[in-house]
Amino acid sequence: MNIVLFGPPGAGKGTQSDKIVKDFGLTKISTGDLLRNEIEKGSSLGAKIKSIIDEGNLVSDDIINNLIENILGNTNSYKGIIFDGYPRNLRQAQSLDTLLKKYNQKISCVLSLEVNKNAIIERITSRLICSKCGSIFNKHFNKATKDNHSCDPKFLITRSDDNIKTVENRFETYNKETMPIIKYYINQNILKEIDGMQKIDQIYKEIRQIIDSLDT
Ligand SMILES: [Zn+2]
Repeated sequence: MNIVLFGPPGAGKGTQSDKIVKDFGLTKISTGDLLRNEIEKGSSLGAKIKSIIDEGNLVSDDIINNLIENILGNTNSYKGIIFDGYPRNLRQAQSLDTLLKKYNQKISCVLSLEVNKNAIIERITSRLICSKCGSIFNKHFNKATKDNHSCDPKFLITRSDDNIKTVENRFETYNKETMPIIKYYINQNILKEIDGMQKIDQIYKEIRQIIDSLDT
Protein backbone atom coordinates (compact mmCIF):
# COMPACT_ATOMS: atom_id res chain seq x y z
CA MET A 1 0.00 0.00 0.00
CA ASN A 2 1.47 3.31 -1.09
CA ILE A 3 -0.04 6.65 -0.19
CA VAL A 4 0.72 10.20 -1.25
CA LEU A 5 -0.15 12.96 1.21
CA PHE A 6 -0.64 16.56 0.12
CA GLY A 7 -1.30 19.58 2.26
CA PRO A 8 -0.24 23.22 2.26
CA PRO A 9 2.13 24.56 4.93
CA GLY A 10 0.35 24.67 8.27
CA ALA A 11 -2.26 22.04 7.40
CA GLY A 12 -0.85 19.58 9.92
CA LYS A 13 0.52 17.20 7.30
CA GLY A 14 3.39 16.10 9.55
CA THR A 15 1.08 15.22 12.42
CA GLN A 16 -1.22 13.17 10.18
CA SER A 17 1.58 11.31 8.40
CA ASP A 18 3.17 10.37 11.74
CA LYS A 19 -0.15 8.85 12.84
CA ILE A 20 -0.48 6.91 9.59
CA VAL A 21 3.08 5.58 9.95
CA LYS A 22 2.38 4.46 13.51
CA ASP A 23 -0.98 2.76 12.82
CA PHE A 24 -0.35 1.21 9.42
CA GLY A 25 3.37 0.46 9.59
CA LEU A 26 4.15 2.46 6.49
CA THR A 27 7.56 3.94 5.78
CA LYS A 28 7.56 7.70 5.36
CA ILE A 29 9.53 9.12 2.49
CA SER A 30 10.21 12.81 2.18
CA THR A 31 12.76 14.14 -0.27
CA GLY A 32 14.40 16.18 2.49
CA ASP A 33 15.04 13.03 4.53
CA LEU A 34 16.23 11.10 1.48
CA LEU A 35 18.76 13.78 0.61
CA ARG A 36 19.95 14.12 4.21
CA ASN A 37 20.34 10.35 4.59
CA GLU A 38 22.37 10.07 1.41
CA ILE A 39 24.67 12.89 2.53
CA GLU A 40 25.10 11.22 5.93
CA LYS A 41 25.94 7.89 4.29
CA GLY A 42 28.98 9.61 2.81
CA SER A 43 28.41 8.05 -0.64
CA SER A 44 29.74 9.73 -3.77
CA LEU A 45 26.14 10.62 -4.69
CA GLY A 46 25.80 12.10 -1.20
CA ALA A 47 28.86 14.28 -1.77
CA LYS A 48 27.42 15.44 -5.09
CA ILE A 49 24.08 16.28 -3.44
CA LYS A 50 25.84 18.19 -0.69
CA SER A 51 27.73 20.38 -3.14
CA ILE A 52 24.53 21.07 -5.14
CA ILE A 53 22.71 22.14 -1.96
CA ASP A 54 25.69 24.11 -0.63
CA GLU A 55 25.76 26.08 -3.87
CA GLY A 56 22.11 26.93 -3.29
CA ASN A 57 20.86 24.91 -6.24
CA LEU A 58 17.94 22.50 -6.44
CA VAL A 59 18.67 18.79 -6.59
CA SER A 60 17.53 17.46 -9.97
CA ASP A 61 14.51 15.20 -10.46
CA ASP A 62 16.87 12.51 -11.79
CA ILE A 63 18.80 12.31 -8.53
CA ILE A 64 15.61 12.22 -6.47
CA ASN A 65 14.15 9.50 -8.71
CA ASN A 66 17.34 7.51 -8.20
CA LEU A 67 17.04 7.71 -4.44
CA ILE A 68 13.40 6.68 -4.56
CA GLU A 69 14.16 3.77 -6.85
CA ASN A 70 16.79 2.54 -4.36
CA ILE A 71 14.03 2.22 -1.78
CA LEU A 72 11.36 0.80 -4.10
CA GLY A 73 13.78 -1.84 -5.39
CA ASN A 74 14.33 -3.14 -1.88
CA THR A 75 10.80 -4.44 -1.31
CA ASN A 76 11.74 -6.50 1.76
CA SER A 77 12.53 -3.40 3.73
CA TYR A 78 9.04 -1.89 3.84
CA LYS A 79 5.34 -2.74 3.98
CA GLY A 80 4.24 0.31 2.11
CA ILE A 81 5.21 3.92 1.69
CA ILE A 82 3.70 7.24 2.53
CA PHE A 83 5.12 9.97 0.33
CA ASP A 84 5.31 13.31 2.09
CA GLY A 85 6.17 16.40 0.06
CA TYR A 86 6.78 14.28 -3.03
CA PRO A 87 5.94 14.35 -5.93
CA ARG A 88 6.45 18.09 -6.09
CA ASN A 89 5.73 18.56 -9.79
CA LEU A 90 4.00 16.76 -12.64
CA ARG A 91 7.24 15.30 -13.97
CA GLN A 92 8.00 13.73 -10.60
CA ALA A 93 4.46 12.34 -10.42
CA GLN A 94 4.89 10.70 -13.80
CA SER A 95 8.33 9.33 -12.90
CA LEU A 96 6.92 7.93 -9.68
CA ASP A 97 4.22 6.05 -11.63
CA THR A 98 6.85 4.64 -13.97
CA LEU A 99 9.05 3.54 -11.07
CA LEU A 100 6.17 1.95 -9.16
CA LYS A 101 5.05 0.06 -12.26
CA LYS A 102 8.58 -1.28 -12.68
CA TYR A 103 8.32 -2.85 -9.23
CA ASN A 104 4.75 -4.02 -9.75
CA GLN A 105 3.30 -1.45 -7.40
CA LYS A 106 0.96 1.48 -7.55
CA ILE A 107 -0.30 4.43 -5.56
CA SER A 108 -3.29 3.21 -3.55
CA CYS A 109 -4.63 6.66 -2.83
CA VAL A 110 -3.71 10.31 -2.70
CA LEU A 111 -4.88 12.25 0.35
CA SER A 112 -5.22 15.99 -0.02
CA LEU A 113 -5.79 18.15 3.05
CA GLU A 114 -7.93 21.07 1.94
CA VAL A 115 -7.62 24.23 3.98
CA ASN A 116 -8.74 27.81 3.96
CA LYS A 117 -5.77 30.09 3.25
CA ASN A 118 -6.79 32.91 5.58
CA ALA A 119 -7.43 30.52 8.42
CA ILE A 120 -4.01 28.94 7.96
CA ILE A 121 -2.33 32.32 7.89
CA GLU A 122 -4.09 33.14 11.13
CA ARG A 123 -3.08 29.78 12.60
CA ILE A 124 0.59 30.10 11.67
CA THR A 125 1.05 33.74 12.53
CA SER A 126 -0.52 33.27 15.93
CA ARG A 127 1.92 30.51 16.80
CA LEU A 128 4.11 31.17 19.82
CA ILE A 129 7.33 29.31 20.48
CA CYS A 130 9.14 29.22 23.81
CA SER A 131 12.73 30.19 23.13
CA LYS A 132 13.79 28.42 26.31
CA CYS A 133 12.20 24.94 26.05
CA GLY A 134 10.93 24.82 22.45
CA SER A 135 7.26 24.23 23.33
CA ILE A 136 4.76 25.48 20.77
CA PHE A 137 1.59 27.34 21.72
CA ASN A 138 -0.99 29.45 19.97
CA LYS A 139 -2.26 32.89 20.96
CA HIS A 140 -5.87 31.80 20.38
CA PHE A 141 -6.59 28.12 20.70
CA ASN A 142 -3.67 26.70 22.67
CA LYS A 143 -2.57 29.38 25.10
CA ALA A 144 0.45 28.95 27.34
CA THR A 145 -0.71 28.83 30.94
CA LYS A 146 0.89 28.16 34.30
CA ASP A 147 -0.45 24.62 34.08
CA ASN A 148 0.99 23.59 30.73
CA HIS A 149 4.19 25.64 30.66
CA SER A 150 6.71 26.34 33.43
CA CYS A 151 8.99 28.91 31.73
CA ASP A 152 8.55 32.65 32.15
CA PRO A 153 6.11 34.07 29.52
CA LYS A 154 8.85 36.49 28.38
CA PHE A 155 10.44 33.56 26.51
CA LEU A 156 7.39 33.18 24.21
CA ILE A 157 8.20 34.54 20.79
CA THR A 158 6.67 34.60 17.32
CA ARG A 159 9.02 32.87 14.89
CA SER A 160 10.63 35.38 12.55
CA ASP A 161 9.63 33.49 9.38
CA ASP A 162 6.06 33.29 10.54
CA ASN A 163 5.11 36.65 9.10
CA ILE A 164 2.18 36.91 6.75
CA LYS A 165 4.16 37.59 3.58
CA THR A 166 6.26 34.44 3.97
CA VAL A 167 3.22 32.32 4.69
CA GLU A 168 1.38 33.73 1.66
CA ASN A 169 4.36 33.06 -0.58
CA ARG A 170 4.61 29.48 0.64
CA PHE A 171 0.90 29.07 -0.02
CA GLU A 172 1.16 30.48 -3.55
CA THR A 173 4.10 28.20 -4.34
CA TYR A 174 2.23 25.22 -2.97
CA ASN A 175 -0.87 25.93 -5.07
CA LYS A 176 1.10 26.59 -8.24
CA GLU A 177 3.11 23.38 -7.90
CA THR A 178 0.43 21.12 -6.51
CA MET A 179 -2.65 21.95 -8.61
CA PRO A 180 -1.38 20.19 -11.77
CA ILE A 181 -0.48 17.08 -9.74
CA ILE A 182 -3.87 17.08 -8.01
CA LYS A 183 -5.56 17.16 -11.43
CA TYR A 184 -3.32 14.32 -12.58
CA TYR A 185 -4.51 12.17 -9.68
CA ILE A 186 -8.16 13.21 -10.08
CA ASN A 187 -7.93 11.84 -13.61
CA GLN A 188 -6.63 8.57 -12.21
CA ASN A 189 -9.57 8.55 -9.81
CA ILE A 190 -7.42 8.07 -6.71
CA LEU A 191 -7.66 11.51 -5.11
CA LYS A 192 -9.41 11.83 -1.75
CA GLU A 193 -10.03 15.32 -0.45
CA ILE A 194 -10.22 15.85 3.29
CA ASP A 195 -11.38 18.94 5.11
CA GLY A 196 -8.15 20.00 6.81
CA MET A 197 -9.87 22.69 8.87
CA GLN A 198 -11.35 20.11 11.24
CA LYS A 199 -9.81 19.08 14.54
CA ILE A 200 -6.70 16.87 14.25
CA ASP A 201 -8.52 13.78 15.57
CA GLN A 202 -11.46 14.22 13.21
CA ILE A 203 -9.13 14.61 10.21
CA TYR A 204 -7.31 11.46 11.21
CA LYS A 205 -10.58 9.57 11.69
CA GLU A 206 -11.45 10.29 8.06
CA ILE A 207 -7.98 9.34 6.89
CA ARG A 208 -8.21 6.04 8.78
CA GLN A 209 -11.57 5.24 7.21
CA ILE A 210 -10.17 5.88 3.75
CA ILE A 211 -7.07 3.76 4.32
CA ASP A 212 -9.10 0.96 5.93
CA SER A 213 -11.30 0.84 2.84
CA LEU A 214 -8.38 0.33 0.44
CA ASP A 215 -7.89 -3.20 -0.84
CA THR A 216 -4.14 -2.97 -1.23
ZN1 LIG B 1 9.30 27.06 27.81
